[in-house]
Amino acid sequence: MKCAICRHGNTVDGRISIVLDKEQTTLVFKDVPAQVCDNCGEEYLSSEINKELLKLANAAIKRGVYLELLKYAA
Ligand SMILES: [Zn+2]
Repeated sequence: MKCAICRHGNTVDGRISIVLDKEQTTLVFKDVPAQVCDNCGEEYLSSEINKELLKLANAAIKRGVYLELLKYAA
């Protein structure tokens, strides 16, 4: 897909790290599949993965996690 930010690059499959900060909880997701622009590096997450990350984040917040490193597994 064409990058919506720089309008020059094309996105390619990649793996990224995402940090989510919510209230007292900091979550770091490693190896999240994403589309990454080969020109400007902008990262695009699919809506399913976005949803999945939010679900994991909410579960961690309920457990009272302060800091957690998670490996994303589809
Ligand atoms: Zn771009």
